[in-house]
Amino acid sequence: MLRMKKLIVANWKMNPKTLSEAVSLARKTGVVKKGAGELVICPPYPFLSGVQKVLNGAALGAQDMSENTEGPHTGEVSAGILKSVGVSYVILGHSERRSELGENDEAVNGKVLQALKAGLRVVLCIGEPIEIRKKGLPSASSFVKKQLLGCVAGIEKLGLKKKNLILAYEPVWAISTSKNRRNETPDDAAFMASLIKTIVREKFYFTPRVLYGGSVGEKDVRDFVSQKEVDGTLVGAASLRASEFRLLMGKVFE
Ligand code: PEP
Repeated sequence: MLRMKKLIVANWKMNPKTLSEAVSLARKTGVVKKGAGELVICPPYPFLSGVQKVLNGAALGAQDMSENTEGPHTGEVSAGILKSVGVSYVILGHSERRSELGENDEAVNGKVLQALKAGLRVVLCIGEPIEIRKKGLPSASSFVKKQLLGCVAGIEKLGLKKKNLILAYEPVWAISTSKNRRNETPDDAAFMASLIKTIVREKFYFTPRVLYGGSVGEKDVRDFVSQKEVDGTLVGAASLRASEFRLLMGKVFE
């Protein structure tokens, strides 16, 4: 059976400090051989164009966007603006935006609809906080189901290309910057990925790709992406460490 190519999304967050460092990191990490797999590099907005010039086989992604299309929204960036500078992917609903900026499912839903309408590929982050996971996997499953359905409400009206909706299961407590971080197990990540696929299939009649994200590094990436339910990984901190990230890519795309 033909194995599906894996997807890696590198979320640089608010890093690195300067354009020249960003370009240098992109030169080292934004390289992927044709046919090996899909790689998306997501730098901060001001670095998008500079990074794009040096990518070699990788696609360009943004870390967020507005739910509005244009007009008086100071500081915001629309799906159309992103498309016009060559962005093809956008991360939406990241837990840091939910916790730091109070972004809720309704706001994320507005962004998802705009991004899909504009033809961007959405990497939608969902995942439960630690208080929920402590109650067990059934509680985590209900939380994730509600969050997911809230964020994708109305997508069936868009005639969407199924490739354009990608889910990233990111348990908040496993992300490298979360306080008292813990490790997710590959088995539980696979269980949640499978659940997410079932929810989308039952509601929208297609099976989306599901990534796992949460402190994945070169040492454990294989444990996650070798799970058949997991189609790739969303990587934060390790995507800033060029040599580690290259090793990680080698393991995912092998
Ligand atoms: C993230 O924040 O999306 C993420 C996966 O980060 P890290 O790999 O640093 O945990």
